[in-house]
Amino acid sequence: MDVVLGIDIGGTSSKLGLVQADGSIIAKRSVDTKRCKNEEAFFACLFEEIELFLEQHRANYHCEGIGIGAPSCDEQAGVLEKAANFPFADSVPILRLFQDHFGLPVYLTKDGNAATLGEARYGAGQYIKNFVLVTLGTGIGGGLFLNGRLVKGNNGWAGEFGHIIVEPDGRPCGCGRRGCLEAYASATGLRRTVLQRLTQGDEGSILRRLAASELEAKDVYLAAKMGDTLSLEVFDGVGRRLGLALANLAATFDPQAFFLAGGLAAAEEVLLTPVRKYFEAFVLPQLRGRISIETSGLRLNEAAIAGAASLVWHHKNLITTHDECK
Ligand SMILES: [Zn+2]
Repeated sequence: MDVVLGIDIGGTSSKLGLVQADGSIIAKRSVDTKRCKNEEAFFACLFEEIELFLEQHRANYHCEGIGIGAPSCDEQAGVLEKAANFPFADSVPILRLFQDHFGLPVYLTKDGNAATLGEARYGAGQYIKNFVLVTLGTGIGGGLFLNGRLVKGNNGWAGEFGHIIVEPDGRPCGCGRRGCLEAYASATGLRRTVLQRLTQGDEGSILRRLAASELEAKDVYLAAKMGDTLSLEVFDGVGRRLGLALANLAATFDPQAFFLAGGLAAAEEVLLTPVRKYFEAFVLPQLRGRISIETSGLRLNEAAIAGAASLVWHHKNLITTHDECK
């Protein structure tokens, strides 16, 4: 059977999946790369794991090509540019490295666009022509799907929602500016808010049972689900900034839906309730009650893997999307 290798490249781990043309993922693997000290070590480790993974399934499946979703990439040039959270030089020719090593067709897109294509081709976005997908993980990214097409922008940077400024002169952000959404509403930003509140105040919280180094975003939404006041207030703050950013995106693009993906989206109602409350308060009155905010129609990480793989299927003319069908 023919499959495509879909890869979601990340700084701490990369996710691999063997994907069929209908988007079903028949095997998955996560590759831990956080101990890799430089570019050579990172790709040596990743390539070795990919070879092992393909070898395990070689008897039953034939790999037709590789689709990659990666942060900070220039897909025209095929390079990763100034990728934060990676032990890399300023510019890494990722497309050529994969082509030279595997000798297969390789396609590259930004991670947020890969997730958006996955949602459009295989998830809840299959049924609508205008949506915005926001990924909430270590950072914040996403993609725009408008009039049945992925919109990449002039330089390919459309969908970098994490760098919408929600607090002028606010917290410093990894991009070098201040007050970006990512500094507050990513898993990292949320953790930062919690640690600030735990160290600066003396209010009670079940999160105090955890050492600061152990505390993860997941602990905060589990605590919020149990009714922990501090955790609920922190999620209210995340919802306020995210609701504000989405209201501004609504006035700009008028989508039918927002889909939230990434690790923090697993908080479900703990996140959705405050986001919807603030979104409705901030949004243009004409759009009030007309735009839905839901979590992704695909399972965690699967949108990006399936979407990356779909680049290969699309080039083989084996799948079509929306307007491209006509
Ligand atoms: Zn920023």
